[in-house]
Amino acid sequence: MDFTFLPTNAQAILSMTWQDYEPFFNDLESRTLEESTVDTWLDDWSALACCVDEQFTRLQIATSQHTADEELQKQFDTFLDDVQPAIKAAGLQPEGFEIQLKMMQAEAEIFSAENLPLLAEEQKLANEYDKIMGATTVIWDREEKTFWEMTTMYSYETDRTVRERAWKAIWDRLYDNREAVNALWSKFMAIRLKIAKNAGFLDYRSYKWKQTRRFDYIPEDCKSFHAAIEEVVVPVAQRVYKRRRQRLGIEATRPWDREVDQFGRPALRPAKTVAELNSKALKVFEKVDPKFREYYQSMMDNDLLDLDSRKNKASGAYSLCYNVAQLPFIFMSHTNTTIDVETILHEGGHAFHSFESAHLRYHQKAEVYSPAEFAEVASMGMELLAAPYLTQEHGGFYTEEENARARISHLESFLLFLPYMALVDAFQHWIYENPVEASDGTKCEEKWGELWDRFMKGVDYSGLEKYKNIYWHRQGHIHTDPFYYIEYGLAELGAVQVLGNARRDQKKAVADYRKALSLGSTVSLPELFATAGAKFAFDADTLKEAIDLMEEVIEELEARL
Ligand SMILES: [Zn+2]
Repeated sequence: MDFTFLPTNAQAILSMTWQDYEPFFNDLESRTLEESTVDTWLDDWSALACCVDEQFTRLQIATSQHTADEELQKQFDTFLDDVQPAIKAAGLQPEGFEIQLKMMQAEAEIFSAENLPLLAEEQKLANEYDKIMGATTVIWDREEKTFWEMTTMYSYETDRTVRERAWKAIWDRLYDNREAVNALWSKFMAIRLKIAKNAGFLDYRSYKWKQTRRFDYIPEDCKSFHAAIEEVVVPVAQRVYKRRRQRLGIEATRPWDREVDQFGRPALRPAKTVAELNSKALKVFEKVDPKFREYYQSMMDNDLLDLDSRKNKASGAYSLCYNVAQLPFIFMSHTNTTIDVETILHEGGHAFHSFESAHLRYHQKAEVYSPAEFAEVASMGMELLAAPYLTQEHGGFYTEEENARARISHLESFLLFLPYMALVDAFQHWIYENPVEASDGTKCEEKWGELWDRFMKGVDYSGLEKYKNIYWHRQGHIHTDPFYYIEYGLAELGAVQVLGNARRDQKKAVADYRKALSLGSTVSLPELFATAGAKFAFDADTLKEAIDLMEEVIEELEARL
């Protein structure tokens, strides 16, 4: 079989069926693997895997660009229903490299045919969860608004009574879902416990640990990280909320006061149009490293950015890679707020990761194999590396003062995220350590409330306890992507260390960051972090250094306001 016959252009890739793929898979399976043939085998496997991956990615992107296109949706469903299961059943995975071997062993260890229908069932429950959340809308100003629209529009509203009314309206609706979400939760738990058992694990967490390829840390490390956050970050977060309270001139920071500008200033408007966003982003990226400008320019030239806001476009933002073409694609919806700038930097970091690792074989770079703990260092690291260049002086978006304001709120959101991250992660450890109790949603509410009080100090929820206790209902990961959350916290700690390096020596910090990005998933997490000039860590000392640095930068920026 000549693997160069695999399609390379988008149209041909999109029309691939299982019948087209089958001969290639059969060919790979029939070969005898010896030392002398393993390299060719891997290259051919890589070419085939890239094609399947790109077909999936193209369908995923196309459906999010055109949510009302039924023909596309049908094409995507066919891929999910026919092509993907057939490929999974073929069971071909590459052999050879150490890390990949570990991944494959983990995959083999957790595989159980009995689990295939259960995993499908779990996916259906996840869809049901998404449906409930998607239908959680409020009629506001005679218009129907989703939870996300309400949160993004009204958290920044300067009139406090409007903010409070909007907050209560949406949380009352979430509270209406309480029974339904708790009932769904019990179903999730029952399936997950069965899945772990079928796969031969004593508990779901051990199963999940293998499945998410967490080779470089154990549950105890996560718990050390929670304790470190409680010790180091919680008091700083309380200071941030106190400052906010004093500036807003209010007696207590209530949940609807968390995002609004502390000085009551109107929202920043960084770029009126997508063209303006692009031309400024290009200049900012150039300041970080001319290579990044080159990458971004090639994305602009090759129509690899979908940034405008329009009807029938999915919400959210992402960067995904076409692995045959070896090119990334960025998706987001322009709103002319600071979120646009943060998002383009964040997704830019992901996209540059794809460029830097394009030279690797599929399984050493593909998103599915790339550890999120480091992938988010690429994106959050870019947010922090680019931040000093966002001023008009560098061709960017803001005046000096506006940039100080944008950066302070960005850094504060990084700070305030950590206690919440610890809460979500600690909650999930409790759930899967106490599966019987935790199958009951009301018991989860109690525990969540208790953990909330441990980590989320500084915001006054008195009289609002019933809303606080169901806050986990809206944290999708807990329901549809269990345990996936600490990755963001670990990556943030890495990204802040990259910022620290840049403040000492920008050129070297960026060079190290690029070197780490170019490694894909060929080395362990501690090695990836070390290459980027950071420590993969869970301890209070490393955390304190990072938090001190953030407070130091915030203080410098405060002087520019
Ligand atoms: Zn990301």
